[in-house]
Amino acid sequence: MQKVAIVTGATRGLGRTIALELSKSGYDIVVNYRKEDENLFSLISEIEGNGSKAFKFQADISDFEQVKGLIDFAVKEAGLDLLVNNAGITNDKLIARMSEQDFDSVIDINLKGTFNCIRHASKAMMKQKKGKIINISSVIGLIGNAGQANYAASKAGVIGLTKSAAKELAPFGVTVNAIAPGFIRTDMTDKLSEEVKKAILSNIPMRDMGEAKDVANLVKFLAHEDSRYITGQVINVDGGMVM
Ligand code: NAP
Repeated sequence: MQKVAIVTGATRGLGRTIALELSKSGYDIVVNYRKEDENLFSLISEIEGNGSKAFKFQADISDFEQVKGLIDFAVKEAGLDLLVNNAGITNDKLIARMSEQDFDSVIDINLKGTFNCIRHASKAMMKQKKGKIINISSVIGLIGNAGQANYAASKAGVIGLTKSAAKELAPFGVTVNAIAPGFIRTDMTDKLSEEVKKAILSNIPMRDMGEAKDVANLVKFLAHEDSRYITGQVINVDGGMVM
């Protein structure tokens, strides 16, 4: 029987690959997006091409009420077995040059946005006594990074949120885990200079960037019944960068 997954920020990058891989694995997808563009329409037709249903819902995840609308829509129109909190941004600057707005913009989307989604989805999942939540954090949330204090704080926050939610929701049959990707080829990393990329690669034991599919494969496992006894964990997908 088909299950239903909400994937936030699904139109590009990791979210897109996660949505497509889940749609090949028995999941209908509620595609959360911010702006209606060609990426959205092509994703919907690819999901349908994989034999699954695609529902689209526009919501800025940093907005509590818009996220309530997203979760209510999913529960009413499709169901809700899995929530993948993927949407995120960077806004890199050294702390001495970081404005309040630079800091807040990243916290509002990456951390509060993830909270908003868990907050509304957990009510539905507690009621149905099942569900899975997967949060996309980052290895930067574990080790920090010069120029990414806002991002590192947001992703460390996502880890604390994951563990707290896992403890609260486990008695209701709901698991909550986090994935900490390392350096994965997407628009987010394409914008780094060749020099920065080279420096990062030299710190990765496997000497290679990851692909979105490397992350999506772990999402598929955590979304599967085979992972039923795993909750509150942070699993790195990083070529050995952090160990
Ligand atoms: P990306 O290519 O920049 O895509 C980000 C996606 O999130 C886009 O679809 C974007 O929508 C969406 N989004 C941003 N803010 C949103 C909001 N307020 N509401 C709804 N959607 C929003 O980034 P990515 O590399 O795929 O990253 C995906 C996740 O993985 C992020 O949480 C990121 O921090 C994490 N991550 C990535 C890497 C990496 O190496 N790439 C490493 C560690 C962790 P728009 O198209 O509207 O902008």
